Amino acid sequence: CGIVGYIGSRNAQQVLLSGLARLEYRGYDSAGVAIMDGEQIQVRKKAGKLANLSGELLALPLSGTLGIGHTRWATHGLPNDTNAHPHATEDGRLVIIHNGIIENYLTLKEGLMARGHVFLSQTDSEVLAHLIEEKYDLVNGNLYEAVRQALSEVRGAYGIVVTHALHREIVAARTVSPLVMGVGEGEMFLASDVPALLPYTRRMVFLHDGDMVVLSDDGFRVTDLAGNAVARTVEQIDWDA
Ligand code: GLU
Repeated sequence: CGIVGYIGSRNAQQVLLSGLARLEYRGYDSAGVAIMDGEQIQVRKKAGKLANLSGELLALPLSGTLGIGHTRWATHGLPNDTNAHPHATEDGRLVIIHNGIIENYLTLKEGLMARGHVFLSQTDSEVLAHLIEEKYDLVNGNLYEAVRQALSEVRGAYGIVVTHALHREIVAARTVSPLVMGVGEGEMFLASDVPALLPYTRRMVFLHDGDMVVLSDDGFRVTDLAGNAVARTVEQIDWDA
């Protein structure tokens, strides 16, 4: 439902929690974050209001300057802690957040299970983590290419954000579900809607249907799902949320 991503030099936990709070009007049933600290990704997720998660995070904060956060509106699987996003692979190195619905998730899940993947949640979204993990090995650890190839097997609507413990970058893509990027100085933001980013930057890029993007500390690169570079303009947002 709501997505926020951050890479830069600020405390990621603060950016994610403030951004998710500004998306609350959408309604949601659970919330979670993944924050990278060195080569370690920590995931915290909780059913219920954002306050449940933020209470826990304020008591036991996660440090790190790269992170992704989600408020979930459950479509597949009950709203509980396990089904909340982010979803990680078994080795904990790759995490994903997904908005929308993966229509062919059952077929994908059967294939992945037959190839030895162990699923922890009842969501449609978790197939994305396993599918990208599988591609990642096939493309020699190119995270962008792994996400791109995984998405070529997926049918449905998605805003997806992915990060990996060995890569200081965030890879994202959208089909139907909205995603907007915030462009800072030495920092980049991502969200499902503009209000999440307004306290940080007014320079935004509205991603189009079928766009993929790689965010790093000092910039971004947009392509289509076939891997061709596409140009997207940075717009100055003047209105207030
Ligand atoms: N279909 C996914 C789920 O049920 C994502 C829901 C959402 O867009 O928040 O977990």
